[in-house]
Amino acid sequence: MTIAVLGGGAAGFFGAIACAEANPALRVLLLEKTGKLLSKVRISGGGRCNLTHAADTPAQLVQHYPRGGAQLKQPFHTFGAPDTVRWFADRGVQLKTEPDGRMFPVTDSSETVAQCLLDAARRAGVEVLTHTAADSIRMLPEGGFELTLSGSSAPPVLRVARLLVATGARPNRSSTTGCGSWATRCRSPCRACSLSTCPTRHCVSCRA
Ligand SMILES: Cc1cc2nc3c(=O)[nH]c(=O)nc-3n(C[C@H](O)[C@H](O)[C@H](O)COP(=O)(O)OP(=O)(O)OC[C@H]3O[C@@H](n4cnc5c(N)ncnc54)[C@H](O)[C@@H]3O)c2cc1C
Repeated sequence: MTIAVLGGGAAGFFGAIACAEANPALRVLLLEKTGKLLSKVRISGGGRCNLTHAADTPAQLVQHYPRGGAQLKQPFHTFGAPDTVRWFADRGVQLKTEPDGRMFPVTDSSETVAQCLLDAARRAGVEVLTHTAADSIRMLPEGGFELTLSGSSAPPVLRVARLLVATGARPNRSSTTGCGSWATRCRSPCRACSLSTCPTRHCVSCRA
């Protein structure tokens, strides 16, 4: 089974590593449209990468988010700050806590974090393709997804059983990248009449 991960940022790498480590039989492909991997990780925290905050519980952690705390509480029960600390420690990255509770790698360098993610992906067998953009996604009636790709090393069409979209934030709704545009361009057949329609809306044909 093949799973494609779109986006070579922190989320894409973490997701790809999690998939590959959980099931070594999977083929995990990480597709990044630019030539640079983890570029935001490298500039984050002023080049030091503020990885997480010293907080034992989700309730404590969400207090440090100016927005979205309520929505984040449940995900933090699945993977919280102590899990982040353990995940990186297991892969050789020690963290330190500053007086205000922010946690950074002891090296004070975001490069440590980027290298950790790159090494973990390589060890887990994640295949990374740069200069490879997913231009469209189609849900297949029989299950899985068909991606239309552009870029130097990519086949033009790729079919995968599972898909993880981690293409980063969306600056505005008309952007050609980001989750909003994927949601509106990801089309699947209507369950009632089998005509193609956006899964988030009523079928344009039969109104189901
Ligand atoms: C200056 C700055 C400082 C920051 N400091 C911190 C910090 O200290 N601590 C912290 O936790 N957060 C920090 N952040 C926020 C943090 O960097 C981001 O939240 C995080 O990097 C987002 O990761 P991501 O993987 O979701 O998205 P991104 O890093 O944006 O990755 C998305 C990737 O998807 C690729 N992509 C887009 N469209 C496609 C497509 N169609 N096909 C293939 N690939 C595609 C993009 O090229 C990109 O590489 C900071 C952000 C900035 C800008």
